[in-house]
Amino acid sequence: MVTSSGARRAGTAILWFRRDLRLSDHPALSAASSRFERVVPLYVWDPHLIGPSGANRLSFLSGCVDALGASLGGRLVIRSGPPSRTIPEVARHIGAEAVVVTRDFGPYGTRRDTEVSAALGEGTELIALDSPYAVSPGSLLTTGGSPFQVFTPFARAWRTHGWDAPMRRPRLGCLDRAGLHDQVPRLPAAAAASLPEPGEGAAHRRLDTFLRAGAAGYRHERDRPDMDRTSRLSPYLRFGCLHPRQVLDRLEAGRPGHDTFATELCWREFYADVLHHRPDAARRAYRPEWRAFPVDTGRGADERLEAWRNGRTGYPIVDAGMRQLRHEGWMHNRVRMIVASFLVKDLHVDWGRGARWFMEQLVDGDLASNQLNWQWVAGSGTDAAPFFRVFNPVTQGRKFDPDGAYVRRWVPELASVDSTVVHEPWKAGDTLFDSVDYPPPIVDHAVEREEALARYRRVAR
Ligand SMILES: Cc1cc2nc3c(=O)[nH]c(=O)nc-3n(C[C@H](O)[C@H](O)[C@H](O)COP(=O)(O)OP(=O)(O)OC[C@H]3O[C@@H](n4cnc5c(N)ncnc54)[C@H](O)[C@@H]3O)c2cc1C
Repeated sequence: MVTSSGARRAGTAILWFRRDLRLSDHPALSAASSRFERVVPLYVWDPHLIGPSGANRLSFLSGCVDALGASLGGRLVIRSGPPSRTIPEVARHIGAEAVVVTRDFGPYGTRRDTEVSAALGEGTELIALDSPYAVSPGSLLTTGGSPFQVFTPFARAWRTHGWDAPMRRPRLGCLDRAGLHDQVPRLPAAAAASLPEPGEGAAHRRLDTFLRAGAAGYRHERDRPDMDRTSRLSPYLRFGCLHPRQVLDRLEAGRPGHDTFATELCWREFYADVLHHRPDAARRAYRPEWRAFPVDTGRGADERLEAWRNGRTGYPIVDAGMRQLRHEGWMHNRVRMIVASFLVKDLHVDWGRGARWFMEQLVDGDLASNQLNWQWVAGSGTDAAPFFRVFNPVTQGRKFDPDGAYVRRWVPELASVDSTVVHEPWKAGDTLFDSVDYPPPIVDHAVEREEALARYRRVAR
């Protein structure tokens, strides 16, 4: 077969989809379909990733895989099992010369791909192209040649480096399921009541809506959970239903909100870069001196963690966020910061325990963004918020949810409380707690703030 460029296409390849569940702007798919005569599109349910994912993310992911399968006209092959076994099995069965993938930069993905490459052996090459980022992790270094640890200079270098324009969807005539049958695992049902619509089409509709209706107010209103002005693109970016290049390409310099939005996308790239250079930061403090930070353990800490998870701390903005997380598998960014700060600095629970709960619940749960944002709040990460800046849940609530609309939506027990005290309902009078099942504050913020600062002084010495 001869391609439009005149090159001869020959042989069989597998296009192994992972965090790139789309057909447009897909360099690995474009390369495979231009070089090989037959391309078998494959998705593998990997038990190692199913385990810690949580039902919400698995349910959304499963919807994205189904949507991809539908847009491939039923030619997507689904397998189940460890990739180091599954991929070579399929490759041998169909006589594949290559397995083409979008490169994964995460700690597990990197290890997995090395194992798969070794298991494929000679005769079948693992070809890794592109990445889930506009600028691939590891591409940018400071003028001194070291990885960036501070966001602002990284963002400057990121903009200067730039990115390719999105690619068109390739012709898909070479795609073939080669007579292979599917193996679909049983997945747990989602716990959240309302998850975003999955798939590439839904991602583009979401982007269109945001650019039409939300972007203009983004700069000034993105911190307001009551206004819901952010894009909600994170689950689609997480699974590559949309590539950041495709989003950046739609932004226009000078349009209100567009520059700020590009900077937010850059945070995602910054954290992926940090984790690429320091994979250990997924599990322990990025800054070594923080590994000795004293946290509470035992029954008391477990009970406080449980109250936090269940949205029953008695601090309305914290409880609203934690309930939104359970209900939607998503939480507004400002509220993520408030609840994370509350767990670490008011309840003195290790950030890793909160990060694990987020990873279990979030549809957009992403190791780099999640662990490093948690470390940012805890003070132990790169470029972190200074530890002594402790979020006050009452003043944060008043500032970012001034009428209490967000709190009333997620904490209906407080629906009738006056706006002046909705963020501190203990001031509404004792009768409130007699008539509704809402707890008084489980800790006194002013006291715990002092305790957090005292612990901080011990490690900062
Ligand atoms: C404690 C904590 C945990 C977090 N865990 C995750 C996570 O697991 N997965 C995740 O995608 N984001 C995480 N974030 C970042 C941020 O909260 C979400 O990306 C954002 O709320 C998603 O909503 P959106 O798409 O409407 O955001 P928008 O405001 O519309 O932003 C657009 C995109 O920019 C990126 N972005 C924005 N802010 C950040 C940020 N601070 N860090 C990294 N990327 C950012 C996201 O890809 C987002 O989709 C976390 C933040 C905190 C404070």
